[in-house]
Amino acid sequence: MAQDLVVPLAPNVWRIPLVRDLVNGFALRDDDGQVTLVDMGLASSGPKVMAALAAIGSGPRDVTRLVLTHAHPDHAGGAAHVARETGRGFTVHHDDAAHVVEGSSPPRDRSLLLGRLLDRVTRPGRDFEPVTVEHEMRDGDVLPIAGGLRVVHTPGHSPGHVSLLHEESRTLITGDAIFNVLGLRWPVKAFCTDFRMTQRTAHVLGELDYDVAAFTHGAELRDRPREAIRRFLSRRSPS
Ligand SMILES: [Zn+2]
Repeated sequence: MAQDLVVPLAPNVWRIPLVRDLVNGFALRDDDGQVTLVDMGLASSGPKVMAALAAIGSGPRDVTRLVLTHAHPDHAGGAAHVARETGRGFTVHHDDAAHVVEGSSPPRDRSLLLGRLLDRVTRPGRDFEPVTVEHEMRDGDVLPIAGGLRVVHTPGHSPGHVSLLHEESRTLITGDAIFNVLGLRWPVKAFCTDFRMTQRTAHVLGELDYDVAAFTHGAELRDRPREAIRRFLSRRSPS
């Protein structure tokens, strides 16, 4: 059987598996049919995002907002393709906006040897095709999407990394603040701008209210996800 193009998370909210469950985007649809897409996966993922849009019965013209949780090539890689198909620019946090416009990843954690090495071999340069930023998000903003999408700034993985809370459906999109790949875990240290900050700022995810926790890397949690995330955070507090 062909792999599902979309996984329903709540009414009018879907996960888009872009590389099995390992890399995900999301779609949210308003009552009036407008669609918001969140994260576009790798460079090869753009057509999959568009196929997912068709699978939920919407088309490129229905897309009114494109959102990125942060400026990494496994999230922004497919962005240029989706921008061309929909004619839309992107909504990103202020602190990652310049990187999205340049197509460059924010710096890696230079307190780690691997981070310093990666920084040296991959920068400066282009990590993904640049796209236009048409709206900059800030912590606490509520985007007018499907009843309201709250921006929760969780910097560390990148300076402008955000998690997103869809309050109406009680769905949290963690972004890369926490992975759910073979269990809850932190993102790869060397790919963070500041790994310790990633650990500190993720604590806000234990304070929010939600019934589904969705991840950009890994399948969603539907069984008391906040308790699971709180347990993870309490076991793995930064010392
Ligand atoms: Zn990622």
